[in-house]
Amino acid sequence: MGFKTDIEIAREAQKRPIQEIGAKLDIPTEHLLPFGHDKAKVSQDFVADARARKRGKLILVTAINPTPAGEGKTTTTVGLGDGLNAIGKRAAICIREASLGPNFGMKGGAAGGGMAQVVPMEDMNLHFTGDFHAITSAHNLLSAMIDNHIYWGNALEIDERRIVWRRVMDMNDRALRDTVVSLGGVSNGFPRQTGFDITVASEVMAILCLAADLDDLQNRLGDIVVAYTREKKAITCRDIGAEGAMTVLLKDAMQPNLVQTLENNPAFVHGGPFANIAHGCNSVVATQTALGLADYVVTEAGFGADLGAEKFFDIKCRKAGLSPSVAVIVATVRAMKMNGGVAKADLGSENVSAVQKGCPNLGRHIENVKGFGVPVVVAINHFHSDTEAEVAAVKAYVAEQGAEAILCRHWAEGSKGVTELATRVAELADAEQSQFAPLYPDEMPLFEKMQTIARRIYRADDVLADDKIRAQLKEWEAAGYGNLPICMAKTQYSFTTDPTRRGAPTGHSVPVREVRLSAGAGFIVAICGEIMTMPGLPRKPAAENIRFNEEGLIEGLF
Ligand code: ADP
Ligand code: MG
Repeated sequence: MGFKTDIEIAREAQKRPIQEIGAKLDIPTEHLLPFGHDKAKVSQDFVADARARKRGKLILVTAINPTPAGEGKTTTTVGLGDGLNAIGKRAAICIREASLGPNFGMKGGAAGGGMAQVVPMEDMNLHFTGDFHAITSAHNLLSAMIDNHIYWGNALEIDERRIVWRRVMDMNDRALRDTVVSLGGVSNGFPRQTGFDITVASEVMAILCLAADLDDLQNRLGDIVVAYTREKKAITCRDIGAEGAMTVLLKDAMQPNLVQTLENNPAFVHGGPFANIAHGCNSVVATQTALGLADYVVTEAGFGADLGAEKFFDIKCRKAGLSPSVAVIVATVRAMKMNGGVAKADLGSENVSAVQKGCPNLGRHIENVKGFGVPVVVAINHFHSDTEAEVAAVKAYVAEQGAEAILCRHWAEGSKGVTELATRVAELADAEQSQFAPLYPDEMPLFEKMQTIARRIYRADDVLADDKIRAQLKEWEAAGYGNLPICMAKTQYSFTTDPTRRGAPTGHSVPVREVRLSAGAGFIVAICGEIMTMPGLPRKPAAENIRFNEEGLIEGLF
């Protein structure tokens, strides 16, 4: 078909030295801490200064419920950023860093695609500037100190059966999901069951992404609940005395990373929390820095809008005092078709009625996002198999919902394929019509917050939870955690908790299987269905194809 792969396009990028990219946002060279020629961290001092300025307008890119076709949120975030620059606006983008482990399994990279990518793609998908290694180290320091505390007499009276702090590693390794540690005799401590999560699932990751600065980081790290006593009294990281050393380990990781798009526009890539048991957005520090330097900041939230946008609004924006100006909902003809019941193998042929049948999924997301008071525009991310009639069907449906859908060809064409969307987004942002408000107030009881999300966003009848869960929520309320927002951990594929139910289902309920306290990050996780915090590798891992070719270039990353 003649399409180049993402890595081939990325390799041909005409990158500019990172100082030039920084100069576009007036970042002085002395405040760029370069990693090679094409990556830099922005210094803590400059970040503090930039964050105080608040000049830009915030644009959220979110999407319909994903299908195996892939909707292209990152691709659209990058494309829109380039598009805004192309029409003469001072714009920056903010996205998450990629997790190392999934690259060796089956997941594609996290740097966008086609002509809308961030580079250097290989570095971003591998070790990048080491942030995730620092997070892994900080997390595991705390793990080591907990076991060490018990070894030396357990003055805090930690109940070894109630240690909730596990270990992390940035690799898909199912063998480590459940482990027994401290085997081997007296000098190795007290054997107990525990396990590993992947680094992006660490609460330290969520904390780094929500912390305002190093002081706030240290405070939040101190608040982490690591274990309970036999009387169920919470033991925190502060009790263990680890928060100071952890903050020291994270000093560099707290500084946002600056890279560039294929069109040499500035992109902040910083932090990457899970989108299920955490909130799934890049760091607050990066977003606020970008808002202090650019007039428009385009950012992405993970998963579909029912999870990603809701958590972006109710957790990140609420906590960081951010007020988004516009939301872009990415939809594809292919995904509409899948929502309309077409199998993946048949996506290539025209099917207008299936597109129409799938559109209510998009319609509900439009209504939901508008419900937060934020103006919405739909971006139809064009795939080469889309027909005019199918695109027209999506546009007509969106118009009926009182919104506008704009066809975008940034994947194939870069910025020139997305100027119409960029122009409209800038107009909407400049009109300052956003009346953003979170979905529920801080004071609402925890269980009611879950019900509000389930009813208003998922359109469920109710939340189902047994007495044990309700009692746990009451205990946390009594302990002073009642004002925290809820972080829903649910399948991304459906409004319901059943990943196979596409479209816009009603008449369902949301069973909450487990609740977890992330006291440092500052949210309560409600787990609905199976949530994997340590992925495995597939039968044929991508790692088998990753290698250097004859020219010394990396093959097999995608
Ligand atoms: P998301 O952020 O929603 O997970 P991405 O933007 O990372 O999605 O895109 C997922 C994959 O789909 C990438 O490999 C990208 O190259 C591909 N992709 C995105 N948009 C298009 C398009 N319009 N045509 C073909 N492939 C696309
Ligand atoms: Mg993405």
